[in-house]
Amino acid sequence: MLLDDTICAVSTPPGEGGIGIIRICGKDAVRLASALFRARVRGDISAQASHTIRYGSIVDPETGDMVDEVLVTVMRAPATYTREDVVEINCHGGMLPLQRTLALLLKQGARMAEPGEFTKRAFLNGRIDLAQAEAVMDVISAKTELAHRAANEQLLGAVSREIGALREDLLSLLASVEAGIDFPEEDIVTPGGKPLAGEISHLIKRVAELITTHDFGRILRNGCATAIVGRPNVGKSSLLNALLKQDRAIVTDIPGTTRDVLEEYLNINGVPFKILDTAGIRHSHDLVEQEGVRRSLAAVKAADIILFVLDGSQPLHPEDSQVLESVKHKQTIAVINKSDLPRGIEHLDTPSRQVAVSCRTGAGLTELKDFLAGCVLQGSIPARDHSWAINARHKKELEQARSSLERAHESAAGLQSPEFIALDLRAALDSLGLIVGATHTEDILERIFNSFCIGK
Ligand code: GDP
Repeated sequence: MLLDDTICAVSTPPGEGGIGIIRICGKDAVRLASALFRARVRGDISAQASHTIRYGSIVDPETGDMVDEVLVTVMRAPATYTREDVVEINCHGGMLPLQRTLALLLKQGARMAEPGEFTKRAFLNGRIDLAQAEAVMDVISAKTELAHRAANEQLLGAVSREIGALREDLLSLLASVEAGIDFPEEDIVTPGGKPLAGEISHLIKRVAELITTHDFGRILRNGCATAIVGRPNVGKSSLLNALLKQDRAIVTDIPGTTRDVLEEYLNINGVPFKILDTAGIRHSHDLVEQEGVRRSLAAVKAADIILFVLDGSQPLHPEDSQVLESVKHKQTIAVINKSDLPRGIEHLDTPSRQVAVSCRTGAGLTELKDFLAGCVLQGSIPARDHSWAINARHKKELEQARSSLERAHESAAGLQSPEFIALDLRAALDSLGLIVGATHTEDILERIFNSFCIGK
């Protein structure tokens, strides 16, 4: 464990800014900072009260050179981010004040922090669990309000509480299996008198429910996948352009899994949307047409929600019905475009919500966006009960736990020996433990914290 040494890093992003903050953490944090700090009035900071701030300068102790004018905050263990002593130095926000101060700290014996090492210490010192530590990075990288709110909930322990409750129930089941089990003729019964297989089924159901929250997590992190479909010339490109023009496009580093379909990211009312763009596809040439159909179908398959665009100035076309047929199994919004022209479309018989818009004038676009965002905010896409969600790592461990529980269930139903059942229950418990870090390996920690920024 690395907790013996004192680490430091610049915690603010590189570049020029009003202030830049250096964070120092560990048992020598105050001593190292004090060696460089000259207070404007009254003594040094080694006797400074916790959670107070002092004004002064960073001075090179060898040359006596003033490096920067600073404010220094002293926060003593245990009420700190890492539960160790933490000192933060507010420098001027330029490369040189920060780099020179950092270099002096390293010279005094501090070590450069690894990515995420402050948060890793908060975990290793028991201030937060692993699911909460992961939420720290989600809070930082959240691109929309909805993603930010969910990350905050996870940081406050929403995921941890669910996993904790599951682990507790699993643990007491395991204890009762190990304490000895009744074997009546055709059932295994826990010491509490309940059928064991039924109890395990109940746990499997709860694990499965947690797994379903992953879909919402995917939407928070990658955007609600939305496909714009419709026959040529109804206004698909115009709709995409109108949405892109009105709403902040999200600059994202999410790697495109497939480049078959272009993707645009939008923030609509605080909800991230990934628009799967088949709009540029033209049906002029046979080969291109085939390619167009293939791409449209791929977009439809990948979509959480479909925007089915129609030309409202013309009667319904057989091709419209064909397109509608291909999306009927999906949550669909019928967008009746060109409302600025005289209406030509007769009554439209679709089970989906219909919104009349004009991409030319912008009429109806607000209603369309409110409805789109509402689908996610109100929990119909995906169907959900929670405002937080598990991530891909949690999903993998939960699936592992579910397999173990299913094996335990099979053994219990087949009246196998308690040792057998206990083995699988214990494996499920271990998988759940990995989510919150009750058990962890260096490998898991490395994978999680390496994706953090330096200084966090
Ligand atoms: P796509 O083939 O479905 O992508 O359709 P486009 O977006 O290229 O639009 C086809 C034609 O319809 C273009 O000439 C657009 O200018 C026109 N168009 C699109 N939206 C509207 C609208 O709301 N009102 C009117 N009057 N024309 C529109």
